[in-house]
Amino acid sequence: MGYVFAAPPTVSVAVAGNVARFPVRRVFCVGRNYAEHAREMGHDPQAEPPFFFTKPADAVVDSGALIPYPPATGDLHHEAELVVALGSGGAFLPEDAALSLVWGYAAGNDLTRRDMQAAAKAARRPWDMAKGFDRSAIVGPIKAFDIGDAPKGRISCHVDGDLRQEADLSDMIWPVAGIIAHLSRMVILQAGDLIFTGTPAGVGAIAAGQTCTVAIDGLEPAVVTVQ
Ligand code: MN
Repeated sequence: MGYVFAAPPTVSVAVAGNVARFPVRRVFCVGRNYAEHAREMGHDPQAEPPFFFTKPADAVVDSGALIPYPPATGDLHHEAELVVALGSGGAFLPEDAALSLVWGYAAGNDLTRRDMQAAAKAARRPWDMAKGFDRSAIVGPIKAFDIGDAPKGRISCHVDGDLRQEADLSDMIWPVAGIIAHLSRMVILQAGDLIFTGTPAGVGAIAAGQTCTVAIDGLEPAVVTVQ
């Protein structure tokens, strides 16, 4: 059996210290996972279950990419995030088993058409085109971690020389185990899935010609330049 035309290539991300790459299956994203960011977006960060949206796998680009300013927006925003990369799958996982799925972690940037997202929220329409556009998921080299070990410390975002976002990973409302456990009750998770875990306060615009760098202690940065 063949295909009626050439099948699209497998999307993949660089792995730190390895010529082999991480093959991407799906990209999930958590909304509002830092209290200060929930407040800046006009929401109460009271404990409620995490909520999710998705990006297409082929929205993923490696760190160091030069991308065109996306169409259909005048307000492209950065969102600095810790990205979880799964090396195995499962469903209906308890929190104490969830971390066994994790292959590694990366720094990421959940690029967002903020004007389009605001219009979608106001009209109660889906976020897909505000979040899941071409080249909207910047992912730095994935670093392998032993089970139960995880990045700790500072997450930051600079646009050119300006510090825009800064927080500690411990500020996340839902830690990684809770995110995976909740998500696994809605979909069957598989090896190759990436999960963007939400952004701290300080989201803002990237203009054409600027470079945005997301840094996380212990990981290589996720860098993108917008043309
Ligand atoms: Mn985000």
